[in-house]
Amino acid sequence: MPSFENTRIAFSDKTTSQLRKAYRLFLLVKSPNLVRIGSWFLDAAVKMNFPLRWALNKTVFAHFCGGETLEESVNTIESFGKYNIRSIMDYAAEGAQTEKEFDEARDRILATIELARENKNIGFAVFKFTGLGRFDLFEKASIQLYLKPTEQREFQRIINRAYAICQLAYDYNVPVMIDAEESWIQIAIDSIVEELMIKFNKVKPVVYHTLQLYRIDRLFYLKKLVTDAPQQNYSPGFKIVRGAYMEMERLRAIKKEYASPIYPDKESTDSAFNEAMRFCFENIDKLALCIGTHNEESCLEAIQLMKLNNLKNDHERIHFSQLMGMSDHISYNLAQEGYNVSKYVPYGPLRLVMPYLIRRAQENTSVAGQTGRELYLIKKELKRRKNSPSTITT
Ligand SMILES: Cc1cc2nc3c(=O)[nH]c(=O)nc-3n(C[C@H](O)[C@H](O)[C@H](O)COP(=O)(O)OP(=O)(O)OC[C@H]3O[C@@H](n4cnc5c(N)ncnc54)[C@H](O)[C@@H]3O)c2cc1C
Repeated sequence: MPSFENTRIAFSDKTTSQLRKAYRLFLLVKSPNLVRIGSWFLDAAVKMNFPLRWALNKTVFAHFCGGETLEESVNTIESFGKYNIRSIMDYAAEGAQTEKEFDEARDRILATIELARENKNIGFAVFKFTGLGRFDLFEKASIQLYLKPTEQREFQRIINRAYAICQLAYDYNVPVMIDAEESWIQIAIDSIVEELMIKFNKVKPVVYHTLQLYRIDRLFYLKKLVTDAPQQNYSPGFKIVRGAYMEMERLRAIKKEYASPIYPDKESTDSAFNEAMRFCFENIDKLALCIGTHNEESCLEAIQLMKLNNLKNDHERIHFSQLMGMSDHISYNLAQEGYNVSKYVPYGPLRLVMPYLIRRAQENTSVAGQTGRELYLIKKELKRRKNSPSTITT
């Protein structure tokens, strides 16, 4: 059983000065007021085209992102690779609105797959449907509103982009994850992902659907997909997460007067997450699983369940994943014990990944316990290095 307390392993690729920087960063994001003001400032700065590089490049951006381009991110990929951690290159530019920008996002993802074919330190490609098409269109398609002919053509172009990505992923044998988003656009996304899985997962899981276990309906959906898959002759792939849009989901449900699709409390989400893991491990011959979490207990539970089901640590269909800049103590210690671990490595032009960075800062503020944990572990490692000077780096 790995000890997530082993900070020597957790921070083995970090210099002492990088650790100090990370410590200051987590101290900053711990303060909700500072994050609120900082987010407002950054948002305004982006809108006003204010040069941000000087302020961010060495702080938030360097901590949470690989670089502005794929080429710039190669050092990060290699550095994770040294510790048997693979990278999931995530073109995290958000807010695209034009067809040109959506085509460009598709091309970036295709380039990631090309690179992954050569570079075995890249484990998966990933994309978000709202990076390939307009949010409003997904919303309209989700409530099955009649799409005008121009919208139908626009929607078809989104589907074509997704097919191009999955086709290349299939040809080059690079698995691709598709992120889950807000429930009111997810209906349209679900149906496209199901079609993609049926087409490209005939031989083995190439396309991975994401399930947010904070949603009341997702356990049932998971079980149904797995039960129906053999009739359609494919193996589904899943990334399971708890879900990132809880507050928005609840507010919308209140505003529009429908029952919230989210469990009423954290315990229910946790138990759905555990049940999803249990079900997936028991059916691992039929599917592939990536566990996307920063929760130590969930990872320990997964390890127990794997043992119970006689599944080896590096089972080819089981992966763990965390985001770059978060929970290195989980990633590095799991990788050390031989589990398959990948880090999401977001990259993209600084200005366009700003919404992603703001979300990370806000998430670290709202997950107060987690930031406290990061601070505690960094402090512990700094102390350990002080007491054993031979391991100090600068
Ligand atoms: C590799 C990776 C990929 C990800 N991809 C996606 C994605 O595609 N789509 C997406 O939406 N998110 C994604 N996430 C984010 C994820 O959904 C969580 O928001 C985040 O990981 C925090 O959950 P946790 O399991 O790490 O930790 P925890 O701290 O244990 O859980 C926090 C989560 O629990 C849930 N929760 C908290 N309080 C309550 C409550 N009162 N009632 C009900 N539920 C509650 C919420 O989902 C909250 O985010 C991803 C995360 C990772 C690590």
